[in-house]
Amino acid sequence: MSKSVIVIGGGIVGISVAYYAAREGFKVTLFEQQAFAFGASGRNAGFIWLHCRNPGWALEASLAGRKLYEELREELPAPFEIRADGGLIYFTDERQAPVFKEFVAARRADGLDMSLIDNAEVRKLVGPIRPDVVGALFCENDAQINTPTVVNAIAAGALAEGAAHSLRRRPRHRGRHDQRQLLRRPCRGRIRGVDGEADGSQRP
Ligand SMILES: Cc1cc2nc3c(=O)[nH]c(=O)nc-3n(C[C@H](O)[C@H](O)[C@H](O)COP(=O)(O)OP(=O)(O)OC[C@H]3O[C@@H](n4cnc5c(N)ncnc54)[C@H](O)[C@@H]3O)c2cc1C
Repeated sequence: MSKSVIVIGGGIVGISVAYYAAREGFKVTLFEQQAFAFGASGRNAGFIWLHCRNPGWALEASLAGRKLYEELREELPAPFEIRADGGLIYFTDERQAPVFKEFVAARRADGLDMSLIDNAEVRKLVGPIRPDVVGALFCENDAQINTPTVVNAIAAGALAEGAAHSLRRRPRHRGRHDQRQLLRRPCRGRIRGVDGEADGSQRP
């Protein structure tokens, strides 16, 4: 008999725990008091910013997490929004260039795909940038997600991980602040049902 897992909260953390626990064969029950992505996961900038992540465990975990998005794009039954275009930090004074160069070398040694790019390359990447920019650090690992779409897609994946015949979607049409999404009551499958959908309405 598989063990049960109860997850409280349908933000990106809770929904990810639900998904991966279901994949491992646990019976998952997830309780969300408002709506998926109602909290910080529905109100953030979505930056996957590895540029300045401290070396060691923090960077390793971030690189592994970044890679996970590529896998999730392949395996989840619903799409989500990600811009995997890299990120840059620019500078406006040539005297800063040696410091940035040193930083790039250190970051490359840490395992990041980072380079120092000149003014022309910066403009190729970002047309509307301030005119006094003379160069930038460019990190290919950086990306940006639309977090509520990720939460929604992982929720769909969590559902798909339950036995298909035991899944039920039961939308409730309540006021926004009275919505409840529950992945609940495991019954033969690992996830019994889901009410509602990701909110994300607080995003700009
Ligand atoms: C303004 C802002 C910008 C940010 N920008 C970035 C960024 O660019 N990049 C980045 O990586 N991170 C960013 N973060 C951080 C990131 O958003 C959070 O680390 C992440 O969303 C936390 O996810 P979570 O699932 O732990 O929490 P949440 O998304 O807050 O989810 C918690 C959920 O639990 C529910 N809940 C709470 N109590 C209960 C209960 N008793 N019963 C049932 N449900 C309950 C809530 O309704 C909520 O849906 C930002 C955060 C903020 C606020």
